[in-house]
Amino acid sequence: MESPRSMKRPAIIVPEGLMNEERGRVLLHACCAPCSSSIVEWLIQHELHPTIFYYNPNIYPREEYEIRKQESKRHAESLGLTWIDGDYDHESWLGNVCGLEGEPERGRRCELCFTLRLTETAKKAKELGLRYFTTTLASSRWKSLEQIERAGHLAEQKVAGTTFWDQNWRKGGLQDRRNQLLKEYQFYNQLYCGCEYSMRINERK
Ligand code: SF4
Repeated sequence: MESPRSMKRPAIIVPEGLMNEERGRVLLHACCAPCSSSIVEWLIQHELHPTIFYYNPNIYPREEYEIRKQESKRHAESLGLTWIDGDYDHESWLGNVCGLEGEPERGRRCELCFTLRLTETAKKAKELGLRYFTTTLASSRWKSLEQIERAGHLAEQKVAGTTFWDQNWRKGGLQDRRNQLLKEYQFYNQLYCGCEYSMRINERK
C-alpha cells in the first residue's frame, strides 16, 4: 500500500492533453525575465517546449518597458527558445482600465489587466496552432492567484480552441530557484509591478 507521503499530489501538474496531443508545446506569457527563469527551466527539464510571449502593454514608462523586454529576450535567446514580441500599446491599455485608476493592487484594475494580457496570449496561442497557454504572473507572491485563474479561464472562453494551464508557479521550489537564477543571470529586477499607478504606490511607500 502506498504511504500517505508518496500519495501526495505533485506541486506542478501538467495537463494530460499537453503531454499527449500537444507534444509538450505550450505558450508561456512572460511578465519579466526573473519570473520566467525558473518556470522555463522546469518546463525544459520536464520535456515541455515553451514558446515565450512577451506581452505587457501595462508597463510604464516606455524606458522601463524596453529594459524588461530586452531582459526577457536575452533570457530566451540564451536557451535557444522562440521569443515573441507583443505590441506595446500603452494608450490602449490606459483606455481599457479607465475609471479604475484609484484601485489598490489586487483590485479590479489588476484583474482586468490580467484578463487583457491573457486574452492576447490566448489569441497568440491560437494563431500559432498551440492549445495550451500559461503565465509567469502566477509566480508572484504579490499577485492574487484567484484573479489570475479567473482571467486565464475567461481568456480561454473568449478564444475557442485554447486551454489555460492554471498552474500555481510558486510551488515546487521554483521561488527559491528564481532567486538563484536572478543572481546567476544578473537580471534587472524591477521595483514595482508595472503601470504608473503601481509606480506611484511604490514611491509613496
Ligand atoms: S498594478 Fe500591476 S497588475 Fe495591477 S494594473 Fe498595474 S501593472 Fe497591472
